[in-house]
Amino acid sequence: MSSNPKNVRMCVVCRRMQPKQDLFRICRNDDNMAFVDYSFKACGRGAYVCKDIACVKALGNRKKVSKSLGGPIPENLIDQILDSIGNS
Ligand SMILES: [Zn+2]
Repeated sequence: MSSNPKNVRMCVVCRRMQPKQDLFRICRNDDNMAFVDYSFKACGRGAYVCKDIACVKALGNRKKVSKSLGGPIPENLIDQILDSIGNS
């Protein structure tokens, strides 16, 4: 284990601690639209989720996620994330 604790975040679904590069960061912009923050630098409020199909799928029905983001994650965003896992 050589990971710097600063670069480790907790998945909102399974609550495992993961290095940032193994997580997606989901943010909300000023228009209240949820999106995947690939830069890890957008907006203050973000939720992290594993690059894991099970975790991403669970995002849609986790109230906790809505809480940390201030609203639900749209299904099309979840589909988009699942696509990007499939393509990587
Ligand atoms: Zn997870």
